[in-house]
Amino acid sequence: MLDTDGTDGRGRALRGHGITFTIGRGNDLVAEATRQLARSLVGTDVGAMAADMGGTYMSFTTDSQMRWLGPEKGVVHLALSAVMNAAWDLAGRHVGKPVWRMLADMTPEELVDVAELRYLADVLTRDEALELLRRVQPGKAGRIAELEADGYPCYTTAAGWLGFSDKKMVRLIHEQELLGLTHVKLEVGTDLEEDVRRCRLARETIGPDRALMIDANQVWDVPTAIGWVRRLAEFEPLWIEEPTSPDDVLGHRKIRDAVAPVKVASGEHCHNRVMFKQFMEAGAMDFCQLDAGRLASLNEIVAVLLLAARFGVPVCPHAGGVGLCEMVQHASMLDFVAVSGTREGRLTEYVDHLHEHFVEPVRVAGGAYQVTGEPGYNTEMRAGSIERYRFPDGGYRLLVAQRRAVMGAGSMSSNSWFSPAIAQTNE
Ligand SMILES: [Mg+2]
Repeated sequence: MLDTDGTDGRGRALRGHGITFTIGRGNDLVAEATRQLARSLVGTDVGAMAADMGGTYMSFTTDSQMRWLGPEKGVVHLALSAVMNAAWDLAGRHVGKPVWRMLADMTPEELVDVAELRYLADVLTRDEALELLRRVQPGKAGRIAELEADGYPCYTTAAGWLGFSDKKMVRLIHEQELLGLTHVKLEVGTDLEEDVRRCRLARETIGPDRALMIDANQVWDVPTAIGWVRRLAEFEPLWIEEPTSPDDVLGHRKIRDAVAPVKVASGEHCHNRVMFKQFMEAGAMDFCQLDAGRLASLNEIVAVLLLAARFGVPVCPHAGGVGLCEMVQHASMLDFVAVSGTREGRLTEYVDHLHEHFVEPVRVAGGAYQVTGEPGYNTEMRAGSIERYRFPDGGYRLLVAQRRAVMGAGSMSSNSWFSPAIAQTNE
């Protein structure tokens, strides 16, 4: 959180809320990096910051000592995402607009100034970026009206997790259909024959017209991915997601060539815009699944949206994590209104859990994210949730730690009898 000494338009304390996403161990590393980065913002004038978000971003990524720890990847970049997401939330609250609208209302010149285009000039110059944005200027007001009427289409992975029984999967697919969700995604990659069976059942349940997607979560090497996806091709998946290492640009290209017409989706582990540049220039990705807690906030997201528009790659953001849905809806809405100018062939992931922890959670209806009118980035968590889950001293965490301490004391004594165990480490 970035606290200020001011108030918002409603007289409430003006504060920016930022989120990145971790899944357990390592929280402390990211939290400490976040603390160290955020310190440099103390004393910053909020109005000046909101008017120069590009410059604010650059002040972090040109710090050579912190660059050494990345650059622009790993723990420091996740931390920068948290800090800049808070800065964007604060900027949106300061100007009284949701951030998608704050950005969509900018002139092409202002929006390009926000985008972090460093290292992209070989495929996208500032002038080319301006040209792309100017091309979609006409019709912006009409697209905002369309968005307010229909929202932005989404899909969910809720039915397709590994380990669900057939009965549960079929029930969840039917429930999603009732909610207007037309696409179904299954996790695959553990057991080929089991995947064949589940994909067959899913395809029979959804019929020939709805889309099926499959997600391997990086489990295969390139040849295995090709063989596995070819075996599942009879069920006509729209895409295979993360078929191999998220850094393997050329491997993705080989898979894409070998499994067509199945398309390749990737990007939730793409750590910065330069990776996206390579994926797109190499023709290695059909769908761009950028992540709002991994890229360092909207400065990089706008750059990736511009790259995607330049290469004609549809952006379908990743949202499988707490708070990600709340943020990526802004990226998709901005893309439609002011960057790509279309919703055609695009949809944003939606995961229907843990929204109750947010003050202004996403609203999904008719298979679409509904427009948010609240100022900021929808990242503020409820005070009660923060109290309970705060790292490292929230009530829930202390309870878990106590339980682990009790269980750990029993298991240590039986293990250590058989062979020596490393007792401690020293720097
Ligand atoms: Mg995924």
